[in-house]
Amino acid sequence: MVLSRVAREIQASATLAITAKAKQLAAEGKDVIGFGAGEPDFDTPENIKNAAIKAIKNGFTKYTPTSGVPKLKEAICEKLFNDNHLKYASSQILVSAGAKQSICNIALVLCDTGDEAIIPSPYWVSYPEMVTLAGAKPVFLETTDKDSFKITKESLAKVITPKSKLLFLNSPSNPTGMVYTEEELREIVMFAVEKGLYVISDEIYEKILYDGAAHFSPAAINDDCYNKVVTVNGFSKVYSMTGWRLGYAAGPEKIIKAATNIQDHTTSGANSITQLAGLEALRGSQESVTVMVKEFDRRRKYIVERLNTIKGISCLLPQGAFYAFPNVSRLCENLSLKGSFDLVSLLLEKAHIAFVPGAPFGADAHIRISYATSMENIEKGMDRFEKFLNT
Ligand SMILES: *Cc1c(COP(=O)(O)O)cnc(C)c1O
Repeated sequence: MVLSRVAREIQASATLAITAKAKQLAAEGKDVIGFGAGEPDFDTPENIKNAAIKAIKNGFTKYTPTSGVPKLKEAICEKLFNDNHLKYASSQILVSAGAKQSICNIALVLCDTGDEAIIPSPYWVSYPEMVTLAGAKPVFLETTDKDSFKITKESLAKVITPKSKLLFLNSPSNPTGMVYTEEELREIVMFAVEKGLYVISDEIYEKILYDGAAHFSPAAINDDCYNKVVTVNGFSKVYSMTGWRLGYAAGPEKIIKAATNIQDHTTSGANSITQLAGLEALRGSQESVTVMVKEFDRRRKYIVERLNTIKGISCLLPQGAFYAFPNVSRLCENLSLKGSFDLVSLLLEKAHIAFVPGAPFGADAHIRISYATSMENIEKGMDRFEKFLNT
């Protein structure tokens, strides 16, 4: 059987094997403490759920326009104007089944065979696969904890070639929790645009910020940037709506129109009920976001402090999202392990703690620890981690 290029080149999620193993151990009755969650452990806020129930009761159950329900698109424009100083018309918005679909549509619109897309590493696991899907080549721009996981104009200059087409940015970052300042983004994005690159700015963790860190949307820098940056955002993380599947892209009309055409022939419009829930998420009370971020903050401080007392581990204090991303290279050395996969496997089998290896994110010296789990689990997990290393 000869499968297509896409089928041959797209990889299964490398973290899946670990997740399967954790599930198997749990099914065997082992008390596995999970730190793998890529989603908030909070329920979707009540007002949002009620808006969906109302939509069903009112029979709002038919196809919507592919690019989204007009009312929702208007609310998104309002949100982008109020929060991000971005002025968009409804014709510049594409609503999709999750930010993931929006990003993939945009990658398909911007990348051609032979093009290069620059992906700062560590990266969200889906970016390289989407670039491959588009027939283009992912080019990784490595950062480490020594430079706070930040690219600069100078480091970017080193990987730009005549084939470079697109730059991915993700602030706050999954997996590192890094947040760029406005000044840093201005320098990086103005340079990228000057070099003719398009930029996808993945802002899905926009409101999950700590220590007074501020979010900035690079499309707002100036007209040149506005014409080259596509802003992507969604409801999954900030409103605990991962299962609802709702996200959006905002950008130059020509790009959005082309992305809408692709979505026309793949999935059509996002779920009608979900879109009205999303409308309530944007227009309703934001109190639930404040409560969630406050709780994440408490866990973040605790977990990073505990991690940094462990010999062989060093962990930066993340400024956003809900992941700690400690450097475990010395710990691996001390335990004679090859890398993050071996460490995670060992901890899962012997201590029943489930972390995520850094290797699939392009950072084998690290592991990803989600603190989207209860404080009780975090305390218990860290105690177990310490105890295991002491024996
Ligand atoms: C979760 C996540 C997304 C996608 O979220 P959707 O559920 O598809 O809206 C996009 N980018 C990053 C970095 C994420 O962590």
